Amino acid sequence: MTNPVEPAATPPYLRTMPSVQLNSDVALGVAIPSRNARGRIARLGPVVDSVLANHGYPPLIEKLLAEALTLTALLGSLLKEPGGQLTLQAQTEGGLIDLMVCDYLGGDLRGYVRHDAERLADVSAEPSLQELFGKGYLAITFDQPLAKERYQGIVPLEGKNLGEAAQSYFAQSEQIPSLVRLAAEKRGDHWFAGGLLLQHLPEGEEGRDRLHTRLDHPDWPHIAILGGSVKAEELTDPELPLDDLIWRLFHEEEEVRTLAAVDLSRGCRCDPDYVRSVIARFPADERQAMVGDDGMIRVDCAFCSSSFAIEPKELT
Ligand SMILES: [Zn+2]
Repeated sequence: MTNPVEPAATPPYLRTMPSVQLNSDVALGVAIPSRNARGRIARLGPVVDSVLANHGYPPLIEKLLAEALTLTALLGSLLKEPGGQLTLQAQTEGGLIDLMVCDYLGGDLRGYVRHDAERLADVSAEPSLQELFGKGYLAITFDQPLAKERYQGIVPLEGKNLGEAAQSYFAQSEQIPSLVRLAAEKRGDHWFAGGLLLQHLPEGEEGRDRLHTRLDHPDWPHIAILGGSVKAEELTDPELPLDDLIWRLFHEEEEVRTLAAVDLSRGCRCDPDYVRSVIARFPADERQAMVGDDGMIRVDCAFCSSSFAIEPKELT
């Protein structure tokens, strides 16, 4: 998996511009040029509530999906192409979760989790990834159609949480020293989730094109300690703008830049015409078998729980 981070040529550190809201539902690029560190910070608020509202999951699954959506936003906002898509898909064996999918396209996020509610009742309050996913893997797919670039990385679902799994993936498979922190918390009736991704990327060396790696570069432990000091409650606090949080963590550095912000929203791309066209491709006898008692073919979107009712005669 290449690491599609934009080049370092960016404006100097700017305070929040009045039109940009950096508290919730936004991902912000971050660079610390003197340490060759770059990354993203993101916070999700109403977007998470809106994704979760359609599903009715238990709190533990809500928290997991909130963190997965945050990781999706951090990685998706690295894509250079506006039409680029980032997909996280957990594949599991013997876990109480048998499927988790999240994706990102142009700031739109969506996701769902398929789980066994009975087995969930028996897990600990803070289950490890193994308790949830069994022998699981997370496939991360970057898809940039204009550049015809598509690559996939596979992350073993091991460790305390998704942030830990993603971090060890970058370090071990990509040989990119990385820090990933994810947190999600329900404050009152609303979910807030936040994440920080930082990577040591010397200029001109990106992802798989890197010729040599410096896992022992002295700049990196310094940045990893500062970044790693971020608290879960800072990541999830909707009152704390993301640029203020970056400043709080790195203000002693020579220069800290915030890059372009990406607004995040809930978006599902299911569309009745597309669903109809997919069903229309089935042979007539198979379509007939799909017809329910009410004479309609019903198709549900797993992402947003929308239900589409199609009249069989529309398809002929
Ligand atoms: Zn949908």
